[in-house]
Amino acid sequence: MTNDFLNTPIEYLKGVGPKRAELLTAELGISTFAHLLVYFPFRYVDRSEFHPVGKVNTDMPLVQVKGKLIALQQAGTGRGKRMVGYLQDETGIIELVWFQGLKWIQQKLKINKEYVAFGKPSEFNGKINMAHPEIEDVKSFQENAVKGIQPVYNVTEKLRKNFINPKVLAKITHHLVESARGKVPETLPSYVVEETGLINLEEAFINIHHPSSHDKLKHASRRLKFDELFHIQLRNVKLKKRRSVEYDGYLFPEIGRFFNEFYKQYLPFELTGAQKRVIKEIRSDLNAGKQMNRLLQGDVGSGKTMVALMTALIALDNGYQSAFMAPTEILAIQHYNTIRKFLKDMPVGIRLLTGSTKNSERKEMEEGLENGDIHILIGTHALLEERVQFKNLGFVVIDEQHRFGVAQRARMWKKNLLPPHILVMTATPIPRSLAMTLYGDMDYSVIDELPPGRKPVKTIHFTERNRMKLFGFMRQQIRMGQQVYVVYPLIEESRSLDLNNLMEGYESIVREFPLPDYQVSIVHGKMNPSDKDYEMQRFVDGKTQIMVSTTVIEVGVDVPNASVMVIENAERFGLSQLHQLRGRVGRGAEQSYCILVTKEKHSSEASRRIKTMVQTTDGFRIAKADLEIRGPGEMDGTRQSGIADLKIADLSTDGELIALARKIAEKILHEDPSLAKPQNQVLWPILNTQSSKKINWSDII
Ligand code: ADP
Ligand code: MG
Repeated sequence: MTNDFLNTPIEYLKGVGPKRAELLTAELGISTFAHLLVYFPFRYVDRSEFHPVGKVNTDMPLVQVKGKLIALQQAGTGRGKRMVGYLQDETGIIELVWFQGLKWIQQKLKINKEYVAFGKPSEFNGKINMAHPEIEDVKSFQENAVKGIQPVYNVTEKLRKNFINPKVLAKITHHLVESARGKVPETLPSYVVEETGLINLEEAFINIHHPSSHDKLKHASRRLKFDELFHIQLRNVKLKKRRSVEYDGYLFPEIGRFFNEFYKQYLPFELTGAQKRVIKEIRSDLNAGKQMNRLLQGDVGSGKTMVALMTALIALDNGYQSAFMAPTEILAIQHYNTIRKFLKDMPVGIRLLTGSTKNSERKEMEEGLENGDIHILIGTHALLEERVQFKNLGFVVIDEQHRFGVAQRARMWKKNLLPPHILVMTATPIPRSLAMTLYGDMDYSVIDELPPGRKPVKTIHFTERNRMKLFGFMRQQIRMGQQVYVVYPLIEESRSLDLNNLMEGYESIVREFPLPDYQVSIVHGKMNPSDKDYEMQRFVDGKTQIMVSTTVIEVGVDVPNASVMVIENAERFGLSQLHQLRGRVGRGAEQSYCILVTKEKHSSEASRRIKTMVQTTDGFRIAKADLEIRGPGEMDGTRQSGIADLKIADLSTDGELIALARKIAEKILHEDPSLAKPQNQVLWPILNTQSSKKINWSDII
């Protein structure tokens, strides 16, 4: 945006000057008026009204009260020595407490005079008080004090030391918005502003910093949130449209022998309605002559692998090879075994390639890939290597996508003349608002139905005290022929402690479940891969009844006979991790259980997570709770996409605005695909500034 006012160096703003400008630039990256304009307050202090004293409670943030000081007394001794003032209005009395500067307070305050006090309410001995409030007599309050809704800005320690505290910054932004009137250009077409009922940008900037009322603040925030979300959506929709015009893809018109034979003869179950729908969606992509770029989201156990497999068979019917990429070796092996089992009576060449594949075997495999004998290649990151070349790669499945780096995925593009069709599968349920933002330029399918006959996993919360009961329960389940997972957290920062914990847990389990009646497996990240696989395999084959492990089993492992998932130190796991772990059970015919073991005491956030897990097995509800508890910055994938840097919009609460922004973006680009109409010219700067900063997803997947 070229605009003299907005581009004015910050030092020329009243109240700033060269020295402060230097500090603001160094500490907050603010070097122009525009930068300061988008440095939004992180909260507000409401000094626009007085709260009735009788209604003040400890849930309130800072509050302002007005009343008569009816008494002032010293209380306590030693370190508890304090001055207590009693401020009364028509509704009650509130205590004002000072622990320091008692003398000064005693001299300054006069009994029976009216004061305005401002502070944070807290509770002591069952009474509401305010410690160290700002206090001023009513007369000087009316003459001097700041009133209305005051912005509070984040400042750094260094700024504070140099006397740029939040209040000073508030004064500076006040000068800024005063001088901004008539100088901020609108960035949305006027018909959009009208249609959405948003306020104009200038109004919004003024009121986000110095709101004239609560209502104005609400509108300002809505407008600025909309802008932020709209920019993302405009770009997403534009990319999506561009890809559908520019990137040719292979045509898979044939539904032939491989697909049909499998479907009619070997598919061991009826597809769910959701699986059928998704296969249809994929088929229409494969017939469009454009590269497919589809995100397939489906809860653990919803049957995504089958969808991917059947797509690979369509590819094969049309003479193309497929590649399945999994994030870990264990998962790749599991996919390999599953797919081989499904296709065991069909002439399909399937191979597994991982980091531990022997060189001689690799050579032979590379040959098979290049001459077309291998139809489906399954593996890990090893597939990305340059030396892995295909005769005719047409379809790539990426499982559990968030573990693959963005740049790595781009390499799959280079393995054939045209980019292969891509199906990204994730079991991490993402709330719709997040998906629309994060994957807004991909097509999106969801399997929202589990195969029939699955009994929802029962989730129970135990504390340490119930351990004997837990062991009893495990014994009973094992006697019934079931297998049990016992999972421990392992976090990098507390790695050695966690490993000790795991080993102790393992030893106590071996004591409780001794040979020869019981066999216990153990798997953790420090073991070498072949030992890991050996232990894993013993459990998969039913040779051991208990699998003690860290979260290495988190993703994808499929042992239908395992019906109990015990999660130790459950308070230390995140919600999506707990949900993934629970997804490891509930795959067979038996009733399954997830047992969350925690210490007696844990944080309120942990309690919320445990409660959510006990209450629901619905991945989408869990994802929503997760987003609410953690905030979008911590969600998988948000970091690398840059959307965690949203300045004002909040993906967990602004779902409605996200949908609106999407709708408007789609409408604009539908009516004016190249944004050529005069009324849409104002949108160009948005597209230009965004594309240089953000990752271009269409170049990647
Ligand atoms: P996901 O990868 O989505 O977590 P999987 O593809 O591993 O799920 O499927 C979980 C289990 O359900 C597998 O054992 C699979 O064979 C089985 N399955 C898949 N689709 C169906 C279906 N329509 N009916 C019954 N079982 C199914
Ligand atoms: Mg899977």
